[in-house]
Amino acid sequence: MPDHVHLILGCDPQFSIHKLVRYIKGSISHLLREEFPELKRNLPSLWTNSYDVGTVAGVTIETVQRYGESQKGKEAVSKKTKRAYKFRFYPTEEQKILLAQTFGCVRFVYNWGLSTRKTAFFQHGQSLSYHDLAAMLPDLKKAYPWLSDASSVPLQQALRHLDRAFVNVFEGRAQYPTFKKKQNEQSATYAANAFKWDGKALSLAKMDEPVDIHWHRDLPKDAQPSSVTISKDCANRYFVSILVEDDIKPKPLVNNMVGLDLGITSMVALSTGESVGNPRYFAKDEKRLAKAQRRHAKKKQGSKNRNKARLKVAQIHARIQDRRRDYQHKLSTRLVHENQVICVESLAVKNMVKNHSLAKAIQDVGWGEFVRQLEYKSSWYGRTLIKIDQWYPSSKTCHACKHVLSSLTLDRREWVCPECGVVHDRDTNAALNILAEGLSVNACGGNGRPVRAKARQAVASEAGSSHSRG
Ligand SMILES: [Zn+2]
Repeated sequence: MPDHVHLILGCDPQFSIHKLVRYIKGSISHLLREEFPELKRNLPSLWTNSYDVGTVAGVTIETVQRYGESQKGKEAVSKKTKRAYKFRFYPTEEQKILLAQTFGCVRFVYNWGLSTRKTAFFQHGQSLSYHDLAAMLPDLKKAYPWLSDASSVPLQQALRHLDRAFVNVFEGRAQYPTFKKKQNEQSATYAANAFKWDGKALSLAKMDEPVDIHWHRDLPKDAQPSSVTISKDCANRYFVSILVEDDIKPKPLVNNMVGLDLGITSMVALSTGESVGNPRYFAKDEKRLAKAQRRHAKKKQGSKNRNKARLKVAQIHARIQDRRRDYQHKLSTRLVHENQVICVESLAVKNMVKNHSLAKAIQDVGWGEFVRQLEYKSSWYGRTLIKIDQWYPSSKTCHACKHVLSSLTLDRREWVCPECGVVHDRDTNAALNILAEGLSVNACGGNGRPVRAKARQAVASEAGSSHSRG
Protein backbone atom coordinates (compact mmCIF):
# COMPACT_ATOMS: atom_id res chain seq x y z
CA MET A 1 0.00 0.00 0.00
CA PRO A 2 1.46 3.41 -0.95
CA ASP A 3 2.41 5.77 1.84
CA HIS A 4 1.52 8.85 -0.11
CA VAL A 5 -0.46 9.76 -3.17
CA HIS A 6 -0.16 12.57 -5.69
CA LEU A 7 -3.40 13.82 -7.19
CA ILE A 8 -3.58 16.25 -10.06
CA LEU A 9 -6.94 17.86 -10.47
CA GLY A 10 -8.35 20.66 -12.46
CA CYS A 11 -11.16 22.73 -11.02
CA ASP A 12 -12.84 26.10 -10.97
CA PRO A 13 -10.30 28.67 -9.71
CA GLN A 14 -13.00 30.09 -7.43
CA PHE A 15 -13.33 26.80 -5.65
CA SER A 16 -11.57 26.95 -2.31
CA ILE A 17 -8.54 24.72 -2.09
CA HIS A 18 -9.35 23.87 1.52
CA LYS A 19 -12.75 22.65 0.59
CA LEU A 20 -11.31 20.57 -2.17
CA VAL A 21 -8.72 18.97 0.06
CA ARG A 22 -11.33 18.34 2.68
CA TYR A 23 -13.60 16.54 0.22
CA ILE A 24 -10.76 14.47 -1.12
CA LYS A 25 -9.60 13.51 2.35
CA GLY A 26 -13.14 12.70 3.42
CA SER A 27 -13.92 10.40 0.53
CA ILE A 28 -10.50 8.76 0.46
CA SER A 29 -10.65 8.03 4.19
CA HIS A 30 -14.01 6.50 3.60
CA LEU A 31 -12.76 4.32 0.76
CA LEU A 32 -9.61 3.29 2.58
CA ARG A 33 -11.42 2.33 5.73
CA GLU A 34 -13.94 0.33 3.76
CA GLU A 35 -11.20 -1.46 1.90
CA PHE A 36 -8.93 -1.93 4.93
CA PRO A 37 -11.11 -2.12 8.04
CA GLU A 38 -8.06 -2.81 10.25
CA LEU A 39 -6.84 0.71 9.46
CA LYS A 40 -9.37 2.10 11.84
CA ARG A 41 -7.58 0.46 14.71
CA ASN A 42 -4.02 0.95 13.59
CA LEU A 43 -4.29 4.37 12.03
CA PRO A 44 -7.01 6.34 13.73
CA SER A 45 -6.04 9.39 11.73
CA LEU A 46 -4.90 9.02 8.19
CA TRP A 47 -4.26 12.63 7.45
CA THR A 48 -2.25 14.21 10.20
CA ASN A 49 0.83 14.69 8.08
CA SER A 50 -0.75 15.58 4.78
CA TYR A 51 0.15 18.85 3.10
CA ASP A 52 -1.31 20.77 0.26
CA VAL A 53 1.00 22.86 -1.83
CA GLY A 54 -0.73 25.20 -4.23
CA THR A 55 0.92 27.25 -6.95
CA VAL A 56 -0.55 29.78 -9.34
CA ALA A 57 0.42 31.24 -12.69
CA GLY A 58 2.95 28.59 -13.63
CA VAL A 59 5.46 28.96 -10.81
CA THR A 60 8.37 26.69 -11.63
CA ILE A 61 9.45 23.80 -9.44
CA GLU A 62 12.83 25.58 -9.04
CA THR A 63 11.11 28.53 -7.38
CA VAL A 64 9.32 26.24 -4.98
CA GLN A 65 12.61 24.48 -4.17
CA ARG A 66 14.41 27.80 -3.68
CA TYR A 67 11.72 28.88 -1.29
CA GLY A 68 12.08 25.63 0.60
CA GLU A 69 15.86 26.12 0.83
CA SER A 70 15.47 29.73 1.98
CA GLN A 71 13.31 28.61 4.88
CA LYS A 72 15.89 26.12 6.15
CA GLY A 73 18.25 28.60 7.78
CA LYS A 74 15.46 30.43 9.50
CA GLU A 75 15.78 28.70 12.81
CA ALA A 76 15.16 30.87 15.78
CA VAL A 77 18.27 32.15 17.53
CA SER A 78 18.88 31.46 21.18
CA LYS A 79 17.66 34.12 23.52
CA LYS A 80 18.20 35.17 27.08
CA THR A 81 15.26 34.20 29.21
CA LYS A 82 14.65 34.54 32.92
CA ARG A 83 14.18 31.11 34.31
CA ALA A 84 13.50 29.96 37.83
CA TYR A 85 15.18 26.88 39.25
CA LYS A 86 13.48 25.46 42.29
CA PHE A 87 15.21 23.32 44.90
CA ARG A 88 14.32 21.95 48.25
CA PHE A 89 16.47 23.05 51.16
CA TYR A 90 16.89 22.14 54.79
CA PRO A 91 17.28 25.08 57.17
CA THR A 92 19.00 24.81 60.54
CA GLU A 93 16.92 25.43 63.65
CA GLU A 94 18.32 28.96 63.79
CA GLN A 95 17.49 29.59 60.17
CA LYS A 96 13.98 28.26 60.71
CA ILE A 97 13.42 30.88 63.38
CA LEU A 98 14.76 33.68 61.20
CA LEU A 99 12.68 32.49 58.26
CA ALA A 100 9.54 32.30 60.39
CA GLN A 101 10.15 35.91 61.45
CA THR A 102 10.80 36.96 57.88
CA PHE A 103 7.66 35.25 56.58
CA GLY A 104 5.66 36.92 59.34
CA CYS A 105 7.04 40.37 58.52
CA VAL A 106 6.49 39.89 54.79
CA ARG A 107 2.92 38.80 55.40
CA PHE A 108 2.35 41.75 57.72
CA VAL A 109 3.73 44.29 55.24
CA TYR A 110 1.76 42.78 52.38
CA ASN A 111 -1.49 42.85 54.34
CA TRP A 112 -0.76 46.37 55.60
CA GLY A 113 -0.10 47.50 52.01
CA LEU A 114 -3.30 45.90 50.81
CA SER A 115 -5.46 47.50 53.48
CA THR A 116 -3.73 50.87 53.02
CA ARG A 117 -4.36 50.78 49.29
CA LYS A 118 -7.95 49.70 49.84
CA THR A 119 -8.66 52.48 52.34
CA ALA A 120 -6.97 55.08 50.16
CA PHE A 121 -9.00 54.04 47.18
CA PHE A 122 -12.42 53.39 48.63
CA GLN A 123 -12.43 56.23 51.16
CA HIS A 124 -10.37 58.91 49.46
CA GLY A 125 -10.44 57.87 45.81
CA GLN A 126 -6.63 57.76 45.75
CA SER A 127 -4.54 55.19 43.92
CA LEU A 128 -1.31 54.43 45.75
CA SER A 129 1.65 53.14 43.82
CA TYR A 130 4.49 50.89 44.92
CA HIS A 131 6.64 53.98 45.50
CA ASP A 132 4.02 55.63 47.71
CA LEU A 133 3.87 52.57 49.93
CA ALA A 134 7.62 51.98 49.95
CA ALA A 135 8.07 55.57 51.14
CA MET A 136 5.85 54.78 54.15
CA LEU A 137 7.90 51.70 55.13
CA PRO A 138 10.37 53.54 57.45
CA ASP A 139 7.50 54.97 59.50
CA LEU A 140 5.86 51.57 59.64
CA LYS A 141 9.10 50.12 60.99
CA LYS A 142 9.17 52.78 63.70
CA ALA A 143 5.64 51.87 64.72
CA TYR A 144 6.42 48.13 64.65
CA PRO A 145 10.09 47.77 65.63
CA TRP A 146 10.01 43.96 65.25
CA LEU A 147 9.81 44.46 61.49
CA SER A 148 13.55 45.15 61.67
CA ASP A 149 14.15 41.51 62.63
CA ALA A 150 13.82 40.67 58.95
CA SER A 151 15.92 42.01 56.12
CA SER A 152 14.23 45.06 54.61
CA VAL A 153 14.58 43.73 51.06
CA PRO A 154 11.89 41.03 51.27
CA LEU A 155 9.56 43.64 52.78
CA GLN A 156 10.01 45.92 49.77
CA GLN A 157 9.56 42.91 47.52
CA ALA A 158 6.26 42.14 49.26
CA LEU A 159 5.04 45.58 48.20
CA ARG A 160 6.22 44.89 44.66
CA HIS A 161 4.26 41.65 44.63
CA LEU A 162 1.22 43.54 45.84
CA ASP A 163 1.68 46.04 43.04
CA ARG A 164 1.93 43.17 40.57
CA ALA A 165 -1.28 41.70 42.00
CA PHE A 166 -3.11 44.98 41.34
CA VAL A 167 -1.74 45.22 37.80
CA ASN A 168 -3.03 41.70 37.21
CA VAL A 169 -6.47 42.77 38.40
CA PHE A 170 -6.50 45.84 36.15
CA GLU A 171 -5.41 43.80 33.18
CA GLY A 172 -8.12 41.25 33.78
CA ARG A 173 -5.86 38.32 34.65
CA ALA A 174 -6.68 37.92 38.30
CA GLN A 175 -9.16 38.48 41.07
CA TYR A 176 -8.81 41.25 43.63
CA PRO A 177 -5.95 40.36 46.01
CA THR A 178 -6.80 38.91 49.40
CA PHE A 179 -5.01 39.05 52.72
CA LYS A 180 -2.27 36.50 53.26
CA LYS A 181 -2.85 33.93 55.97
CA LYS A 182 -0.45 32.23 58.29
CA GLN A 183 -1.81 28.77 57.43
CA ASN A 184 -1.09 29.07 53.72
CA GLU A 185 2.17 28.80 51.87
CA GLN A 186 4.65 31.42 53.03
CA SER A 187 7.25 33.12 50.91
CA ALA A 188 9.84 35.86 50.89
CA THR A 189 11.77 37.24 47.94
CA TYR A 190 15.33 38.46 48.17
CA ALA A 191 16.64 40.81 45.48
CA ALA A 192 20.28 40.64 44.44
CA ASN A 193 21.42 43.02 47.20
CA ALA A 194 20.11 40.68 49.90
CA PHE A 195 21.86 37.42 49.11
CA LYS A 196 25.29 36.16 48.16
CA TRP A 197 25.99 33.54 45.55
CA ASP A 198 29.54 32.39 44.95
CA GLY A 199 28.75 29.74 42.37
CA LYS A 200 28.45 27.06 45.03
CA ALA A 201 26.68 28.35 48.10
CA LEU A 202 23.80 30.70 48.73
CA SER A 203 23.66 32.93 51.81
CA LEU A 204 20.72 35.14 52.64
CA ALA A 205 20.75 38.50 54.40
CA LYS A 206 20.92 38.20 58.19
CA MET A 207 21.89 34.54 58.04
CA ASP A 208 25.26 33.36 59.30
CA GLU A 209 25.46 30.15 57.33
CA PRO A 210 24.63 29.41 53.72
CA VAL A 211 21.41 27.44 53.20
CA ASP A 212 21.69 23.70 52.76
CA ILE A 213 20.23 23.18 49.31
CA HIS A 214 19.48 19.81 47.80
CA TRP A 215 20.85 20.38 44.26
CA HIS A 216 18.95 17.91 42.13
CA ARG A 217 20.18 19.68 38.99
CA ASP A 218 22.84 22.19 38.04
CA LEU A 219 22.28 25.87 37.58
CA PRO A 220 23.43 27.12 34.17
CA LYS A 221 27.16 27.80 34.03
CA ASP A 222 28.22 31.17 35.44
CA ALA A 223 24.64 31.91 36.43
CA GLN A 224 24.11 35.24 38.17
CA PRO A 225 20.86 34.92 40.12
CA SER A 226 18.81 38.10 39.96
CA SER A 227 16.48 37.14 42.77
CA VAL A 228 15.86 34.31 45.18
CA THR A 229 12.50 33.33 46.62
CA ILE A 230 12.27 31.23 49.76
CA SER A 231 9.03 29.45 50.47
CA LYS A 232 7.56 27.06 52.96
CA ASP A 233 4.57 24.99 51.90
CA CYS A 234 1.72 23.74 54.05
CA ALA A 235 3.52 20.45 54.57
CA ASN A 236 6.38 22.42 56.22
CA ARG A 237 8.82 21.85 53.38
CA TYR A 238 11.23 24.60 52.44
CA PHE A 239 12.04 25.54 48.86
CA VAL A 240 14.31 28.03 47.22
CA SER A 241 13.55 29.32 43.75
CA ILE A 242 16.53 30.91 42.05
CA LEU A 243 15.87 33.23 39.14
CA VAL A 244 18.68 33.32 36.60
CA GLU A 245 19.15 34.58 33.10
CA ASP A 246 19.39 31.49 30.97
CA ASP A 247 20.56 31.12 27.42
CA ILE A 248 17.89 28.79 26.14
CA LYS A 249 18.65 27.33 22.74
CA PRO A 250 15.63 26.70 20.56
CA LYS A 251 15.21 23.13 19.46
CA PRO A 252 15.84 22.24 15.81
CA LEU A 253 12.79 22.69 13.60
CA VAL A 254 10.59 19.65 13.19
CA ASN A 255 7.77 19.04 10.76
CA ASN A 256 5.20 17.71 13.19
CA MET A 257 2.11 19.60 14.19
CA VAL A 258 -0.32 18.36 16.75
CA GLY A 259 -3.78 19.19 18.02
CA LEU A 260 -4.60 18.43 21.65
CA ASP A 261 -7.98 17.66 23.05
CA LEU A 262 -7.86 17.96 26.80
CA GLY A 263 -10.21 15.65 28.54
CA ILE A 264 -11.01 13.68 31.61
CA THR A 265 -11.15 10.05 30.55
CA SER A 266 -7.76 10.52 28.99
CA MET A 267 -5.86 13.63 29.94
CA VAL A 268 -4.84 14.49 26.42
CA ALA A 269 -5.97 13.04 23.11
CA LEU A 270 -3.52 13.82 20.32
CA SER A 271 -4.51 14.35 16.72
CA THR A 272 -2.11 11.52 15.87
CA GLY A 273 -4.57 9.15 17.49
CA GLU A 274 -2.52 8.64 20.62
CA SER A 275 -4.26 9.14 23.90
CA VAL A 276 -2.26 9.97 26.97
CA GLY A 277 -3.78 8.56 30.11
CA ASN A 278 -5.02 10.65 32.93
CA PRO A 279 -3.09 9.45 35.92
CA ARG A 280 -5.81 10.54 38.33
CA TYR A 281 -3.39 10.91 41.17
CA PHE A 282 -6.01 12.55 43.27
CA ALA A 283 -8.37 9.63 42.91
CA LYS A 284 -5.64 7.21 43.98
CA ASP A 285 -4.90 9.15 47.12
CA GLU A 286 -8.47 10.16 47.74
CA LYS A 287 -9.17 7.51 50.33
CA ARG A 288 -6.06 8.30 52.28
CA LEU A 289 -6.89 11.97 52.10
CA ALA A 290 -10.49 11.49 53.23
CA LYS A 291 -9.30 9.49 56.22
CA ALA A 292 -6.77 12.16 57.19
CA GLN A 293 -9.39 14.85 56.79
CA ARG A 294 -11.86 13.02 59.02
CA ARG A 295 -9.18 12.67 61.68
CA HIS A 296 -8.36 16.34 61.40
CA ALA A 297 -12.00 17.35 61.79
CA LYS A 298 -12.38 15.33 64.99
CA LYS A 299 -9.47 16.96 66.82
CA LYS A 300 -10.11 19.80 69.22
CA GLN A 301 -9.75 23.30 67.80
CA GLY A 302 -6.37 24.82 68.50
CA SER A 303 -4.90 21.62 69.96
CA LYS A 304 -1.45 20.26 69.15
CA ASN A 305 -2.99 17.09 67.78
CA ARG A 306 -5.18 19.07 65.46
CA ASN A 307 -2.13 20.77 64.09
CA LYS A 308 -0.46 17.40 63.57
CA ALA A 309 -3.52 16.14 61.74
CA ARG A 310 -3.58 19.26 59.59
CA LEU A 311 0.02 18.62 58.64
CA LYS A 312 -0.84 15.07 57.63
CA VAL A 313 -3.59 16.36 55.32
CA ALA A 314 -1.20 18.92 53.85
CA GLN A 315 1.41 16.24 53.24
CA ILE A 316 -0.99 14.12 51.24
CA HIS A 317 -2.04 17.16 49.20
CA ALA A 318 1.60 18.01 48.59
CA ARG A 319 2.38 14.49 47.43
CA ILE A 320 -0.54 14.54 44.99
CA GLN A 321 0.49 17.90 43.64
CA ASP A 322 4.13 16.94 43.20
CA ARG A 323 3.33 13.80 41.28
CA ARG A 324 0.81 15.58 39.10
CA ARG A 325 3.23 18.36 38.27
CA ASP A 326 5.97 15.91 37.51
CA TYR A 327 3.72 14.05 35.10
CA GLN A 328 2.61 17.26 33.42
CA HIS A 329 6.19 18.43 32.98
CA LYS A 330 7.22 15.18 31.34
CA LEU A 331 4.28 15.31 28.96
CA SER A 332 4.56 19.00 28.07
CA THR A 333 8.31 18.67 27.49
CA ARG A 334 7.75 15.70 25.22
CA LEU A 335 5.04 17.43 23.19
CA VAL A 336 7.08 20.60 22.75
CA HIS A 337 10.11 18.52 21.81
CA GLU A 338 8.27 16.55 19.15
CA ASN A 339 6.11 19.23 17.56
CA GLN A 340 6.71 22.56 15.86
CA VAL A 341 3.12 23.68 16.21
CA ILE A 342 0.76 22.77 19.02
CA CYS A 343 -2.91 23.68 18.89
CA VAL A 344 -4.93 23.54 22.04
CA GLU A 345 -8.29 24.79 23.24
CA SER A 346 -8.10 27.59 25.73
CA LEU A 347 -10.31 26.43 28.52
CA ALA A 348 -12.37 28.33 30.98
CA VAL A 349 -11.50 25.84 33.67
CA LYS A 350 -13.08 28.04 36.29
CA ASN A 351 -16.43 28.01 34.54
CA MET A 352 -16.24 24.31 34.06
CA VAL A 353 -15.40 23.71 37.67
CA LYS A 354 -18.75 25.27 38.53
CA ASN A 355 -20.27 22.15 37.05
CA HIS A 356 -20.06 20.17 40.29
CA SER A 357 -20.26 16.68 38.96
CA LEU A 358 -17.12 17.33 36.96
CA ALA A 359 -15.38 19.74 39.27
CA LYS A 360 -13.23 17.27 41.11
CA ALA A 361 -12.18 15.39 38.01
CA ILE A 362 -11.29 18.60 36.21
CA GLN A 363 -9.22 19.98 39.03
CA ASP A 364 -7.53 16.64 39.28
CA VAL A 365 -6.39 16.72 35.67
CA GLY A 366 -4.84 20.15 36.12
CA TRP A 367 -5.47 21.53 32.65
CA GLY A 368 -4.65 25.12 33.44
CA GLU A 369 -1.18 24.33 34.69
CA PHE A 370 -0.56 22.00 31.77
CA VAL A 371 -1.42 24.66 29.18
CA ARG A 372 0.74 27.16 31.06
CA GLN A 373 3.69 24.79 30.80
CA LEU A 374 3.10 24.28 27.09
CA GLU A 375 3.00 28.03 26.70
CA TYR A 376 6.32 28.89 28.27
CA LYS A 377 8.14 25.86 26.94
CA SER A 378 6.94 26.67 23.41
CA SER A 379 8.28 30.15 23.79
CA TRP A 380 11.63 28.86 25.10
CA TYR A 381 12.20 26.37 22.36
CA GLY A 382 10.91 28.30 19.35
CA ARG A 383 7.66 26.40 18.97
CA THR A 384 4.26 27.86 18.21
CA LEU A 385 1.37 27.33 20.57
CA ILE A 386 -2.01 28.23 19.17
CA LYS A 387 -4.90 28.54 21.55
CA ILE A 388 -8.37 28.15 20.13
CA ASP A 389 -11.14 30.02 21.84
CA GLN A 390 -13.28 27.84 23.99
CA TRP A 391 -16.46 26.18 22.88
CA TYR A 392 -15.46 25.52 19.36
CA PRO A 393 -17.58 22.42 18.64
CA SER A 394 -14.51 20.27 18.18
CA SER A 395 -16.10 16.95 19.10
CA LYS A 396 -19.20 17.05 17.00
CA THR A 397 -17.66 18.42 13.83
CA CYS A 398 -16.51 15.83 11.33
CA HIS A 399 -12.87 16.59 10.63
CA ALA A 400 -13.08 15.14 7.16
CA CYS A 401 -16.06 17.06 5.77
CA LYS A 402 -16.79 19.62 8.51
CA HIS A 403 -20.35 18.43 8.97
CA VAL A 404 -21.56 19.46 12.42
CA LEU A 405 -23.79 17.06 14.35
CA SER A 406 -26.69 18.61 16.20
CA SER A 407 -25.85 16.65 19.31
CA LEU A 408 -23.40 14.08 20.56
CA THR A 409 -23.83 12.57 23.98
CA LEU A 410 -20.86 12.15 26.28
CA ASP A 411 -20.94 8.38 26.31
CA ARG A 412 -20.50 8.10 22.55
CA ARG A 413 -16.81 7.36 22.12
CA GLU A 414 -17.19 6.68 18.43
CA TRP A 415 -19.49 8.03 15.77
CA VAL A 416 -20.09 7.81 12.02
CA CYS A 417 -20.42 11.00 10.00
CA PRO A 418 -23.82 10.99 8.25
CA GLU A 419 -22.40 13.19 5.48
CA CYS A 420 -19.24 11.41 4.44
CA GLY A 421 -19.40 8.14 6.35
CA VAL A 422 -16.08 8.44 8.14
CA VAL A 423 -15.90 6.64 11.48
CA HIS A 424 -14.54 8.89 14.19
CA ASP A 425 -12.92 8.22 17.48
CA ARG A 426 -14.44 11.01 19.50
CA ASP A 427 -11.28 12.44 21.03
CA THR A 428 -9.00 11.99 18.05
CA ASN A 429 -11.55 13.69 15.83
CA ALA A 430 -11.76 16.58 18.28
CA ALA A 431 -7.96 16.88 18.36
CA LEU A 432 -7.83 16.88 14.57
CA ASN A 433 -10.41 19.66 14.44
CA ILE A 434 -8.46 21.68 16.96
CA LEU A 435 -5.34 21.27 14.85
CA ALA A 436 -7.15 22.29 11.66
CA GLU A 437 -8.83 25.23 13.34
CA GLY A 438 -5.56 26.43 14.81
CA LEU A 439 -3.69 26.15 11.54
CA SER A 440 -6.40 27.87 9.57
CA VAL A 441 -6.02 31.00 11.67
CA ASN A 442 -2.28 30.94 11.94
CA ALA A 443 0.15 30.59 9.11
CA CYS A 444 2.75 28.74 11.20
CA GLY A 445 5.08 31.62 11.94
CA GLY A 446 7.11 29.65 14.46
CA ASN A 447 7.80 32.70 16.59
CA GLY A 448 6.98 30.71 19.66
CA ARG A 449 4.42 33.12 20.96
CA PRO A 450 1.01 31.79 21.77
CA VAL A 451 -1.56 32.85 19.25
CA ARG A 452 -5.17 33.34 20.09
CA ALA A 453 -7.51 31.99 17.51
CA LYS A 454 -11.17 32.87 17.42
CA ALA A 455 -13.34 29.87 16.96
CA ARG A 456 -15.71 30.61 14.18
CA GLN A 457 -18.63 28.78 15.60
CA ALA A 458 -19.36 29.07 19.23
CA VAL A 459 -21.94 26.64 20.39
CA ALA A 460 -23.32 27.46 23.78
CA SER A 461 -24.65 23.98 24.41
CA GLU A 462 -21.10 22.71 24.42
CA ALA A 463 -20.36 24.66 27.53
CA GLY A 464 -22.05 22.22 29.84
CA SER A 465 -20.48 18.99 28.71
CA SER A 466 -17.27 17.51 29.92
CA HIS A 467 -14.60 15.98 27.81
CA SER A 468 -14.04 17.26 24.35
CA ARG A 469 -17.22 19.21 24.75
CA GLY A 470 -20.08 18.46 22.43
ZN1 LIG B 1 -17.98 13.90 7.51
